[in-house]
Amino acid sequence: MAAMTAAATRTPQHSSALVLFSGGQDSTTCLAHALARYPRVETLAFDYGQRHRIELQARLEVLRALRQHFAAWSARLGQDHVLDLAVLGTISETSLTRETAFQVEASGLPNTFVPGRNLLFLTLAAALAYRRGIQVIVTGVCETDYSGYPDCRDDSMKALQVALTLGMDRRFLIETPLMWIDKADTWRLAEQLGDASGVAGGGAALVELIQEHSHSCYLGERGQRHAWGYGCGACPACELRARGWAAYAAGGAGA
Ligand code: ZN
Repeated sequence: MAAMTAAATRTPQHSSALVLFSGGQDSTTCLAHALARYPRVETLAFDYGQRHRIELQARLEVLRALRQHFAAWSARLGQDHVLDLAVLGTISETSLTRETAFQVEASGLPNTFVPGRNLLFLTLAAALAYRRGIQVIVTGVCETDYSGYPDCRDDSMKALQVALTLGMDRRFLIETPLMWIDKADTWRLAEQLGDASGVAGGGAALVELIQEHSHSCYLGERGQRHAWGYGCGACPACELRARGWAAYAAGGAGA
């Protein structure tokens, strides 16, 4: 099953990667993907409000656990960056015009949604990558379990890769390992990456690490531990994660 090994697909001219790492299931899997491919990997998160405190804390736990359980990856794991994006709060419709609690709009998007947010994230990531001498930017955007964010689409990513490459006169590669797989396959990918890491039982260990430490819930709930991890169990992020876990668990490894 580990036929799709990291070595087979490695591009030697790319020696380092910057991973947009929020501490969720998707970005943790992307981080493992990058650690399997690139000798130097740095991580980036954006701090844009109190709701995301738990997320910022979860990502530190994930980094700590990865270093603890995967020695070879630990050696590759470089600097962790957190950029302050409090400005997003001032342009989010929620905080600007309404005093409403979190809810999901008829469009299917959470009302905390800031249009084009991901374009901003990737532009800042590219600016940081430029300064750090990094060519590859890895992000967990996905069209399969469509989140509703148009700036996460494959076409958006490809257009942005060209725009950033031209605009900064530096060749950037935006890598999206989850673009065409669903949440069950994301669990399977984590298992494969863990198995190929050289750590005995690495697949199960990485899946367990993601269950235990990664955070996806929109509401920031970490009270109840479900089979798929912590969360309220009812918000769209929890529902998606729970559905993916159920399909993964039913299908077994590598199904
Ligand atoms: Zn939730």
